[in-house]
Amino acid sequence: MTPAPAHGLRRFADINLAIGLFSALLIAGLWFYLMSKHSADRQEIISAAVRQNSNLAVAYEEHVVRTLKGFDSTLLFVRHEYRSLGRAMDIARYIAEGVVDGQLFSILSVVDEHGDIVLSNRRFEPTNYADREFFQVHRSGGADLLYISRPVLGRVSGNWQVPMSRRISKPDGSFGGVVVLSVDPGYFARFYQKSDIGVLGLVTLVGFDGIARVRRVGGELSFDIDMTKSSLMRQRARNEHGEFLSPGGFDDTQRFVSYRTLPGYPLVVAVGVAENEVLGEFRRSRYRDYVMVLLISLIIAAFSAMLVVMLARQKRAQEALANSEARFRGAFEQAAIGMAHTSLDRRYLQVNRRFCEMLGYAPEEIIGRPAGSFTYPEDREADNSYRRKLLAGEVDSVAAEKRYVRKDGSLMWVNRSVSLVRDAWGQPLYFLRIVENITERKKLESELRELASTDMLTGIPNRRVFIARLEEEHARVRRFPQQPAAVLMLDLDHFKKVNDTHGHPAGDSVLRHVAELISTRIRAVDACGRLGGEEFSILLTGATLPAAAEFAERLRRGITESPAVYEGMTLPVTVSIGIAALRAEDASSDAALLRADRALYRAKESGRDRVEVDA
Ligand code: GH3
Ligand code: MG
Ligand code: MG
Repeated sequence: MTPAPAHGLRRFADINLAIGLFSALLIAGLWFYLMSKHSADRQEIISAAVRQNSNLAVAYEEHVVRTLKGFDSTLLFVRHEYRSLGRAMDIARYIAEGVVDGQLFSILSVVDEHGDIVLSNRRFEPTNYADREFFQVHRSGGADLLYISRPVLGRVSGNWQVPMSRRISKPDGSFGGVVVLSVDPGYFARFYQKSDIGVLGLVTLVGFDGIARVRRVGGELSFDIDMTKSSLMRQRARNEHGEFLSPGGFDDTQRFVSYRTLPGYPLVVAVGVAENEVLGEFRRSRYRDYVMVLLISLIIAAFSAMLVVMLARQKRAQEALANSEARFRGAFEQAAIGMAHTSLDRRYLQVNRRFCEMLGYAPEEIIGRPAGSFTYPEDREADNSYRRKLLAGEVDSVAAEKRYVRKDGSLMWVNRSVSLVRDAWGQPLYFLRIVENITERKKLESELRELASTDMLTGIPNRRVFIARLEEEHARVRRFPQQPAAVLMLDLDHFKKVNDTHGHPAGDSVLRHVAELISTRIRAVDACGRLGGEEFSILLTGATLPAAAEFAERLRRGITESPAVYEGMTLPVTVSIGIAALRAEDASSDAALLRADRALYRAKESGRDRVEVDA
């Protein structure tokens, strides 16, 4: 297992950093955009509201000036008429005839120099106005100007009134009284009845004396308010016209206020809209924007966190894969058995060290060659169907024992199994061949096979093999009765004596000697075997009984005439032989053996060292 390379870790950390930075930048950018957009929007909304406000203030100013001029010209007209007509003047008639517009004021009166009403458009009780502000202002002299009083609660009408007055001068210039008319101050504020300045909108008309003649907030009118300490008065002291954000001293409502000083009058008009109303919709939509961008920010953060987690997971999987690959490579390379990958079109792709060692080739001499290149030509046919079976998924692996030809030309037995490696989706990738050298095992096997069929002492076939051969021959005789065969049973005479006199090893050498004589005298088509102890048997194929007897006689003499020699000692031995024919009518070959054994018995009975043929 190789540890993950350090640069891989660093690269991974870099990617995480990049993801973090990217999402942070994205979020920061989003918020920055939103903030700057809000600030621009807010500025634009405020300037639009202020613009509209100043337009209203201009219109208001014009309205007030026009109205005041109307009142003033009425006063000037009445004063003029009073000078020439005196108390003979009939104000009610002027109104009735339309010379004076009586709709805009409630009372129009002339007051003499003592303060007593002398003329009026209405019927009047004797009243004295000497204590009134406007009377005292005019009596004390000064320029001949329209005087607009503070609002007063009318003594006659019981309503709020703003008296507007002009001084009457006698021909000698002395004080001759006052012409005065009373105006409903609400009239000045009602100009805005229809205009939309909002529920908290402000309209006011203030004198330089700091007294509001009328103030309207929303639908509510108030009169005669002391505004000497208001921010409006402070602003006006600096500039005749202007705009400012009023802190809303009287009702805690901030307003954008536009004000104008009336030309020729000691009056100021002001129009204000509540900041809350101007910015209400903006603030609501800003709140919605915040919620949405917050949500988007959370999504971006969550998404990048997810990305980081996913990358970490993928990296772990990659590491695990790399580790398992390294482990596999190690196992592949170090394996004590030969391993090779072959392509689907059966060419060597990869081979391990052991595979090369086994064949004696270098890897580059193997890779690219067709699979089966090393198979011994005779074994090539054996298992060629494995490829189809593996690809069809019928089997997981196929194994075969076969021979390979090494580079040096020698043969090698191998157990080669092939399996198909598929990817995660089941698509075939390559064949995996596992090759085990079984040459040693094969050699051992063939040795064992030989051991099992050979008599250990003499080296000729043992009883089992001989009987099998005899049965084979019996079967042949049954098929072809005209081709005869004979079986001989041999038993050494008085063999016990040999053992007793010279020892067991001497006896063994005699047994080996006899076996040697037998096996050299029979033909290749014949067979012999040691049935046990000092008993042997011979199968003569194609031999009639007389021919077999002749062979037996020659063998008997040969054995007698050439004794075994053991450690310098000559060990003479004789043999008795019984002969029988293999018969087609016999149920098994045992019957013939039994007959031969009987003949052998007779030979023993008759004095030994002789041949007896089954009758
Ligand atoms: P007969 O003429 O009646 O056959 O006399 P015999 O002594 O041969 O008697 P028998 O056949 O009964 O005895 C066989 C003897 O052969 C007995 C045993 O000691 C000996 N013998 C059997 N197998 C071996 C062997 O593998 N090696 C040796 N050395 N002797 C064996
Ligand atoms: Mg015997
Ligand atoms: Mg014997």
